[in-house]
Amino acid sequence: MNTTPRTALVTGASRGIGAAIARRLAADGFTVVVNYAGAADEADSLVAQIEQAGGRAVAAQADVSDPAAVARMFDGAQAAFGGVDVLVNNAGIMRLATLAESDDALFDSQIAINLKGTFNTLREASRRLRDGGRIVNLSSSVVGLTPPTYAVYAATKAAVESMTQILSKELRGRNITVNAVAPGPTATRLFLDGKPQDVIDRLAKQAPLERLGQPEDIAATVAFLAGPDGAWINGQVLRANGGIV
Ligand code: NDP
Repeated sequence: MNTTPRTALVTGASRGIGAAIARRLAADGFTVVVNYAGAADEADSLVAQIEQAGGRAVAAQADVSDPAAVARMFDGAQAAFGGVDVLVNNAGIMRLATLAESDDALFDSQIAINLKGTFNTLREASRRLRDGGRIVNLSSSVVGLTPPTYAVYAATKAAVESMTQILSKELRGRNITVNAVAPGPTATRLFLDGKPQDVIDRLAKQAPLERLGQPEDIAATVAFLAGPDGAWINGQVLRANGGIV
């Protein structure tokens, strides 16, 4: 019996970790909805690459912080593919400053995208995901590392971990697992932009495995949770970080 779910919606999949997750899930046999907010060209090019490799994907524009746009995206996936089986909440932004220097825009934007955005998709998914589905939320290892300047960002991710654990219980009886993956420093624009090379090198050496994570490392972890081998993992936060914390 083939128990692999069929349609996966990955938010923030136009680049970085989300794009690697979309590629990996497509290679694993899922039809992938490649969500993006602004980067239509990158999303379209990823869809073309997936299709060239023999996979199936469509791009779907929606700002995850907008509940109506998120509902429309689920409507579209339902109309096109009959439903959604896997939701990966990957869209996120990171704005760093000490609390003393954090302005309202820093706070509001991260709450809107990282927390409300995840809430918006989780609400739709908990109403609509097909039985037997999987939900994977992206947290961050900074919840454990607690480095200075990460207070608001880490707080949004701690909240995502709380919602993960509670939703896993609320979905009792539907055979849907809800887990979080918490990467450490991973080589994407979100991590690399604006950091001097010596800071990048220092952070890369911090984990006992002495390198940065690659988007594919995180995609492999998500694929495990979304695939048949992850069936018994539920309500957990899996840190994928080379042992940094
Ligand atoms: P990137 O900045 O490389 O990519 C972010 C993606 O999110 C883009 O595709 C972007 O698309 C999309 N996005 C941003 N805002 C929205 C929005 N409002 N609605 C829909 N999509 C949106 O980030 P990463 O790949 O590094 O990060 C992915 C996830 O992993 C995030 O949740 C991040 O917090 C988490 N993470 C990353 C770590 C790292 O070191 N890189 C470590 C720990 C966690 P567009 O350009 O179209 O807006």
